[in-house]
Amino acid sequence: MLLSVRVFGVPLILMGLAFALLSAFDRFSGNPYLGQMSVMFLYTACAAFAAALVLLTYNVIRVLLAWYGRSESCHRCAMPVSLKGGPHGLYYKCWGCGSTRSHR
Ligand SMILES: [Zn+2]
Repeated sequence: MLLSVRVFGVPLILMGLAFALLSAFDRFSGNPYLGQMSVMFLYTACAAFAAALVLLTYNVIRVLLAWYGRSESCHRCAMPVSLKGGPHGLYYKCWGCGSTRSHR
């Protein structure tokens, strides 16, 4: 599972949103009535693109750290894990396969 959709899903969705907004800007920018509104599309697209880049960079760094053994990784698929709190205490939840493991 090199490029897991679960690990990179959110930045990919944001990236898709940015491109959808850009094409909407492209379509409406020449329109005298919707021209003003289309600028909003452009700004939102830029924000979504920037957020996607930040998230993507963060996720890639986390995956690399897990692979090089510098952070906790999943025992099943070697993807990074997040530390979460539940009713039974702290546990790790895998980004890739979603499996959980209790915090030692
Ligand atoms: Zn896993």
